Order: sequence, then C-alpha cells, then structure tokens
Amino acid sequence: MLPPLFKKIIQFFDNFPEIGPRQAWRLFFWFVKQDKKFKETFLESLKALIENLNFCKYCNFPIINDEICEICKDPKRNKSTLCIVARETDLITIENLKKYRGVYYVIGGLLLPFEEKEYVKENLIKLKKRFEEDKNIKEVILALPFTKEAEPLKKEVIKIVEKFNVKIRGLKKGIPTGGEIEFIDPETLKEALEL
Ligand SMILES: [Zn+2]
Repeated sequence: MLPPLFKKIIQFFDNFPEIGPRQAWRLFFWFVKQDKKFKETFLESLKALIENLNFCKYCNFPIINDEICEICKDPKRNKSTLCIVARETDLITIENLKKYRGVYYVIGGLLLPFEEKEYVKENLIKLKKRFEEDKNIKEVILALPFTKEAEPLKKEVIKIVEKFNVKIRGLKKGIPTGGEIEFIDPETLKEALEL
C-alpha cells in the first residue's frame, strides 16, 4: 500500500533511539504535512551538519568546522581533571551544574552485550591513548550512569584508568542504581561526583 520511498524514510525514523515502529510512522505522517519551507530548511540544515560535522579530537564532542571544542580550547579549564561521561547529554547536564571546571571525555554510548557499537570500542582505545600521551591528567571523575546497563562500561573504563597514576573520583555509593545522569537532581549529582 505504501510507496517504497515512504517505507524507506519510515525505516530511517525507526532506527532512531527510543523510536518504535508506531512512532516512526507518526513522525513520517507528521513530517509530510509540514509546509515546504519547513522541509527544505530541515534538509538544508541536515546537509550543512553532515558536511561540516567533526568530533573534538580530545573529547569526542560533536563540533562544526573545527578540530577542538570550546571546552578543550578554553585556557581557564583545568586540564588535569578529566570527567568521563557515556553520552553527550551527560556532559551538558554536568555543564549546567556550573560547578565543574575541568575537561571531559565522551565515550558516546554504553558497552551492551547485544549491541556492537564500533565507536564505543574505538573511543575506549582512544581513552587509553589519551592517558598515555597526556601526562597532565591527575584526576578522573567517573560520571557514568548509575545503571546496571552501564556496569560493563564502568568496569572497562576503570580497568583503563587504573593502569595510570591518576586519582578516581565519583565512585561514591549513595545513588540508587537506575540513576541516569540527566535524571539525578543537581544537588545529589554534585555530591555523587564530588564536584
Ligand atoms: Zn573537546
């Protein structure tokens, strides 16, 4: 019943995280009803993003037309403290606390048994390299989600960090398991990460 092009685009939406098939259909039928200008601007923005997108060579945060992000470039940031986060949104949550003045490392996802994410593995290899090359790092704040799913990643990160002479912070208990960084209230999060 549906033209192949419709199906193809719905399939794209279906691949988005946390979007199920039903929602993919809904998004598609919502999108087709928007005016032409909206669709064209959306497409142009996506195109510009694809053409100019880069990832910070130090922390992996996505950036446009640059090699290094604003945070890693900032001379006022304390380069001896590295906060390791799983997701980009966790970095934003911690930045919004306006308490942390060190730099970050974004892994980009979790290590999940049924999901092979090459970039997660690559970023873990890169993390090890970062410690080998950057002798300024004296301290690590482990800001990974307090969830069961994040455990394999946490173990792997600790295994890497432990090989180097750095202090690890943020391992304090007291946060109930199940806590995603973005849903923990600011005060509890500051305390958990010892900021
Ligand atoms: Zn950066």
